[in-house]
Parts: sequence; structure tokens; C-alpha cells
Amino acid sequence: FAPWADPTQKPLIRFENVVKRFGDFTAVDHVSLDIYEREFFALLGPSGCGKTTLMRMLAGFEEPSEGRLTLAGEDLAGVPPYRRPVNMMFQSYALFPHMNVQDNIAFGLKQDKMSKGDIDARVEELLKLVKLDKFAKRKPHQLSGGQRQRVALARSLAKRPKVLLLDEPLGALDKKLREETQFELMDLQMKLGMTFLIVTHDQEEAMTVADRIAVMNQGVLVQVAPPAVIYEQPATRYVADFIGEVNLIEGQVTACDGETTRMASPVTPCPLVVAQHVEAKPGDSACIAIRPEKLRISLDPPAEQGENCFEGEIWDIGYLGDLSIYHVELACGQRIKVSQPNLSRLVARPITWEDKVWVTFAPHAGVVLTR
Ligand code: ATP
Repeated sequence: FAPWADPTQKPLIRFENVVKRFGDFTAVDHVSLDIYEREFFALLGPSGCGKTTLMRMLAGFEEPSEGRLTLAGEDLAGVPPYRRPVNMMFQSYALFPHMNVQDNIAFGLKQDKMSKGDIDARVEELLKLVKLDKFAKRKPHQLSGGQRQRVALARSLAKRPKVLLLDEPLGALDKKLREETQFELMDLQMKLGMTFLIVTHDQEEAMTVADRIAVMNQGVLVQVAPPAVIYEQPATRYVADFIGEVNLIEGQVTACDGETTRMASPVTPCPLVVAQHVEAKPGDSACIAIRPEKLRISLDPPAEQGENCFEGEIWDIGYLGDLSIYHVELACGQRIKVSQPNLSRLVARPITWEDKVWVTFAPHAGVVLTR
């Protein structure tokens, strides 16, 4: 059992109906969320959706306007940040420029009046953990962006918090280093057996590092689930569209029989069938979300044109090396994207601009969304 699916497990962090208002603006709107020990949890959403505010309430930099926030069963209301077993690593890293790496890491421990021997031992252990043992005497300006990020990480782990909060921690790194660092963070989280909560607007980052993702929009939690569920079974059009590429085919439900949903859409004359039951009645509006890689494209019409088929013309092709992305324009003007692996180097007759094509999908490849 994953901890969130095990009813005997108690959450480490619990947001209960938490609201945060700034004046008459609601930044966080009735959020209820449980996070478990040893989870790597991501808060994902576009800029301004309230994810940082949610994290700041856990750190104690903001107080909820309504609702309750508990950590290991303790109500956090009124508990100052320094008394919470939580530490936050900021995007800017906030390192002291005049102090060397070792002193930056030791700063909080000195303030807590830990003995020198204990501080030295802890700093040494942290330097090894983030692979900076050879850089202890350097100042922040003598380090690369990735190394500075690791100093900030070591500093935020120095007091051995129960929870590490990471606010866009990799935002300043270039793509390659960012990807490497994502795996280092995952490795570190597993080694330490800690709870990590990361805030990011980068869906690939959230999908890579997190055990579960909470997708937020305008202060509201839209879906909380493991990455594969968020991708394969998005709960709403918003989630489907925010995570990865998707084609949304709007239409009307014509029948639901407990196992399949049948729909009619103005984009194609043929019926659309999805292997999924939804709570809807004939005539209700709904849409089918289909990922580009789950569509098939062909220059030949399918043997049976009974269902799940779109006819169109190639409007554009993006060659990405491993994949080609075909933009297909349907007769109604809607464009859909189909991605196909480029398996062979020489294709017998490559699909090209203005070709007439048929796009099909299997009933289990789509998801019907009513919200
Ligand atoms: P970003 O990724 O850009 O940091 P975010 O999802 O983390 O965005 P928040 O920083 O949580 O968003 O902000 C949510 C909303 O609350 C924004 O509209 C922001 O302007 C507003 N907000 C945040 N802090 C304050 C504040 N102290 N006073 C007034 N409004 C605020």
C-alpha cells in the first residue's frame, strides 16, 4: 500500500479547509490535503495559483484566514516558523555572500548554540551528502549555480527538519543541470527518508520527482494523485490541458452502459466510443481527452470506418528526431496533434504536408471529461 492509499496510516501534514485571503482576494480557497511521511509531494500550477502561499502557511510565514493546519497531529496555529520542524529552501538560495560554504551551512546550528564539535560533525556529514566536501572553504561567488543550490540544500537540512519545503528550487539552473539535479533530489529524499514538498510550475519536473502531485488552479486543488494517474486519468479539462499535450474533442454523450461511453461530435461523422463509464446522461456535454501518442495516423482509410476515426489533412509536421508530431486539420477546422515514434530511418512513403490522412484511436486510449 502507498501511504495515501492505506487507511491505517496517519498523515504527517494535514490541511483542513484552509483559506488564505489577502484583503478581499482569496489566494487559497478551502484546501484540504493530507501529505504523508517520506512522501515527495509536488504542488503544481500556473503562476499565481496559490501554491507558494500554501507552502508559506506550512512554514509559518503566513497564517491561514480560516481552517486548520496540523503537523504530526499538532495544531500549528500560532507556532512561530523557527519552532516548526520544517525548513524552506528558497529559489534565490539566500546564501550569505561573505561566508564560506561551511559557515553558510553551520549558520542556523550556531544560532541554536550547538557545540562546536557537533556542528563540525554535522557540517561534514552534510557536505558529503551534497558532494561538496572539497568546496567547504569557498565563498558562494566562487561556485557554479548547481553548487550554490546544493549549499542551500545542505543548509536547509542542517537542523534535520521533518519536512523540507522547496520553492521552485531548480528555477535558476539550465535544462541539463536541472534534470540531473531532479534525480539527485530524489536520491537524497530516499536516503534521508524525509518528507519533501516541492512547489513548481514545471509539469515535467513535478512528474519526474514526485510520488504525488496536487494540481492547483486559482487557489483551488483540482486533482491530487500520482503522476501517472494525473497524466492518464486527468479529472478535468484543465488538468488534461495543463499536464502534457492533449487533444480535446468536444461533443455530446449519446449513451453510457456502465463500461463504455458513446459520444457524438461535430468534428467527425462517426460515433466516438471510450472504454470508461461516466456519470452522464444522453445529451450532456462532455469531451474526450486523447494524448497525441495514443492516436494512430495513416494514409489509408481504416478497414472499418465504424467508430473513433477522424479524417483530415496534414497542416504541419514537427520532426523531433525520436518522434514526429503531425498537426492534422479536420474538415471543421479543428486541429489535432498526433505523435508517432520515428522507428525506421527511411520510411517507405513518409506522410507529408497536405496529405489526406485518417486518424484513429482505441476505446481505452481516450478519457471522457465532464468538467
Ligand atoms: P508563482 O509561481 O508566480 O510564485 P504561486 O502559485 O506560488 O505563483 P502565490 O505566490 O501563492 O502564487 O500567490 C497567489 C496569489 O496571491 C497571487 O495572485 C499573489 O499576487 C497573491 N498574493 C500572494 N502574497 C500576497 C500578499 N502578501 N499580499 C497580497 N497578495 C498576495
